Amino acid sequence: MNYVEKAVCLRRALHKIPELGWGEFCTTAKIIENLEPLGWKLYVGRQQISEEAVMGRSEEFVQKSIERALSEGVDKALIERMEGYTGCVAEFDTGRPGPVTALRFDIDCVGVEETDRKDHLPNLEGFRSQHEGAMHSCGHDGHTAVGLSVAQWIMDHKDELNGRIKLIFQPAEEGVRGGAAQAASGLLDDVNYLLGAHLAMMCKTGEVCIYPGGVLCTTKLDVRLKGKPAHPTMSPQLGRNALACACTIVSELLGMARHGNGLGCINVGLMQAGECRNVIPVHASIQLEVRGETAEINDFMVDQANRIVKGTALAYDVEYEVEKVGEAGELLNDPELADLVKEVSEKVPSCRKVIDHKKLGCSEDFTMLAARVRAVGGKTEFFVIGADRTAAHHQREFDFDEKGLETAFDIFTGCLRRLNGK
Ligand SMILES: [Zn+2]
Repeated sequence: MNYVEKAVCLRRALHKIPELGWGEFCTTAKIIENLEPLGWKLYVGRQQISEEAVMGRSEEFVQKSIERALSEGVDKALIERMEGYTGCVAEFDTGRPGPVTALRFDIDCVGVEETDRKDHLPNLEGFRSQHEGAMHSCGHDGHTAVGLSVAQWIMDHKDELNGRIKLIFQPAEEGVRGGAAQAASGLLDDVNYLLGAHLAMMCKTGEVCIYPGGVLCTTKLDVRLKGKPAHPTMSPQLGRNALACACTIVSELLGMARHGNGLGCINVGLMQAGECRNVIPVHASIQLEVRGETAEINDFMVDQANRIVKGTALAYDVEYEVEKVGEAGELLNDPELADLVKEVSEKVPSCRKVIDHKKLGCSEDFTMLAARVRAVGGKTEFFVIGADRTAAHHQREFDFDEKGLETAFDIFTGCLRRLNGK
């Protein structure tokens, strides 16, 4: 089996066991089981995650995910090694001087139920999701599979390479939660070059986009309010109404000022409040996100959101708490590294068109890893590898053309030859 066939096989195996962010225990086990026999040095659990920087992770969800992984036959010793934290960083030292190059692959899935349409390839070929309510409908199964195939290639060609190579298998990209925690582990602080890519997006099979545009900065916030209960007619003066406070916060948030320098958005996606009909409501919670074309605009939106919550909570005399549960920054590709990816792509047989700019309109926490690498003087590049899609990303009919795996494999290995070749 060649590398690309192996990537297709792995992709299908991973597609069967999709796991939501911070719950990727089966997936992480698969990664470890593939890499360890090849001789990769692995950083697992807290070795590759800084607990203080973890966002949007629920202990209850993690425990449930661990139980499921164990019930599906994942080795208990492996689960223990993960210490409750999914993802993995693999390192290979050629023993020769040379740059440190890191490749990043995200591993989590989306919370949608896979379609039962008969013409959907995973149904036709028998690799549909076996996890209810979870599906690889963003293509991260493809990313992980390419990463594992590239890992095999590196070991097969280790005598032709210099320096060190790191493979970053990142958990919890959806909701932009995992990147910051992996960056804060410090494992990227010696990286000279960081490359990452996304399959499909707005590009067709055979296309590669070097500077994806419209990648928005974003911050995800959870707001929790706590009022005081009271009888609504006997002693309403003793109550503090968290539900009314939440309603005011939501309408203020939706009407917040925009920035003149570019696009800024806010979405309030969930509001829950109250206990029962005849008690002044004590609890309320709000889930919101802001996005901005630049870090400056995003920060402006976050500041306003925080002020609105604080001021409104003061007005209603309720306690409040704002938790940051996800964050992604600006996508700033390094022109020199971007040129290199472009040159490599132009020579890849399955790539027929290299596009400089294309607008995506999403957010990516690759940016958190990239910011860390840039802070220590490294160069970073995030590109898109085209693959025809059957539906938009995050939809239940989503599937991508597996020919994209070949393009991805060829570009990553081509870049390694250029950056770390002898
Ligand atoms: Zn994605």
